Amino acid sequence: MARIAIGGFQHETNTFSSTPASLADFEAPDAWPGLTRGGAMLEAVADINLPVAGFVQEARSLQHELVPMTWCSAQPSGRVTRDAYEHISGLLLDDLQHAGKVDGVYLDLHGAMVAEHCDDADGEILRRVRAMVGPGVPVVASLDFHANLSHQMARQATALVTYRTYPHVDMADCGARAARVMHEVLHGPSVTQHLEQLDFLVPLTSQSTLVEPLQSLMSEVESAERPPLLSACLTPGFPAADVADCGPAVYACGTDAAVVADAARRLADALRRREGEFALELYPVEQAIAQLRRTPAPRGRPVILADTQDNPGAGGNADTMSLVKALVASRLPRVLAGVICDPDAAARAHAAGEGALFDLRLGGRTGTAGETPLEARCTVLALGDGRFTGTGPFYRGARFELGPMALLELGGVRVAVASRKQQAADQAMFRHLRAEPADYAVLALKSSVHFRADFGPLASRILVVEAPGPNVADPGRLPFRKLRPGMRTSPRRR
Ligand SMILES: [Zn+2]
Repeated sequence: MARIAIGGFQHETNTFSSTPASLADFEAPDAWPGLTRGGAMLEAVADINLPVAGFVQEARSLQHELVPMTWCSAQPSGRVTRDAYEHISGLLLDDLQHAGKVDGVYLDLHGAMVAEHCDDADGEILRRVRAMVGPGVPVVASLDFHANLSHQMARQATALVTYRTYPHVDMADCGARAARVMHEVLHGPSVTQHLEQLDFLVPLTSQSTLVEPLQSLMSEVESAERPPLLSACLTPGFPAADVADCGPAVYACGTDAAVVADAARRLADALRRREGEFALELYPVEQAIAQLRRTPAPRGRPVILADTQDNPGAGGNADTMSLVKALVASRLPRVLAGVICDPDAAARAHAAGEGALFDLRLGGRTGTAGETPLEARCTVLALGDGRFTGTGPFYRGARFELGPMALLELGGVRVAVASRKQQAADQAMFRHLRAEPADYAVLALKSSVHFRADFGPLASRILVVEAPGPNVADPGRLPFRKLRPGMRTSPRRR
């Protein structure tokens, strides 16, 4: 039995977004708990599809004693403020200092966090933790599939373990794998790592592991992970990050340096060979609507329009209205859209009550060029307090707290509105407002890929739509300055 200190600090930073992540953003709950510390942390994360929850369960079954520290996350956005980063890192280090003698440290990190004053914010946390515990104590971290893996992360951690799915249905599993790796390294011989960074960016919407090329690449990674390897990872990266470590990477660690390096090189070569298959497929709004007219959805099998560029799960604000306006103008029947973040609209709907009719200006307030609110007379169809539990494979067990919510009908389109932004990746977000997604012909979702886990099986067709928003889908259009020399901002087509 070993004593293992566990904590987490998760943020995915879109450095092109001008909305920073403040301490208040980490303190507030969303789908996941707000900042939590000590014994309360174990309870707050229990049974949620989160790495830390998977780690806790597996480490306990391996008979280890856990010392809970601080855990927090915030919605993807612009850089983490210096104040928030230093405060939260301070809490973690303080907890570690007071944990007494520990045999290992586990951290639930994202791997694409950028702070105002630090481009490799996850690597810096690992460096500070390593400096405190010294070289002899294993430090294991789990990272998101969208980590931008750095040499510092690989060097400071004894072992890294990353998600293998997008939608991330294996977050808790990844934590459990981290616990098994920890179990091995607590008593085993010394561990070596190898990291290969690749030289092209992969657009988010081309990163789903439900389709090629990542579907088969990830099974290659899975089969490569066998002794003497402890962990084999392939991360396509989070492309909206203007930092030197942005981009895909392959990482392996284990007990035989030559085998580890050879496995990482082989997987990196396999990824390089598939570069041309990552090309982007995006539909302009008018083209998507023309498609809907030509091929209407069969009953019970909606067409899904993924409003990826305003996905709050990648730094959008969930309030651009261009796609909803086009759907209103199209007069297509049975359209459900969401989830729009507009606390004022939600408050007005709650004040007016179910069945009320009033004039509303919805969304369009957070400054995307050319975006304006949707102005229409709306009917309040349903109200909710924004507290419900996730039921889909991605948000499984998540205890949502989205503030007052409302289902509104505007110009024939039904729109779910919340007071806090959250990626539309779980049917529970609509069912909370008595809207059953399968009853609609068109679902317009503020999501890039995560929606595929819970909505994908319903869909007769999925179109990724290029409506305006801050999460630019084509990395080739982003104004990078800090990428590594020779990086291609779009995959080379064959
Ligand atoms: Zn991710």
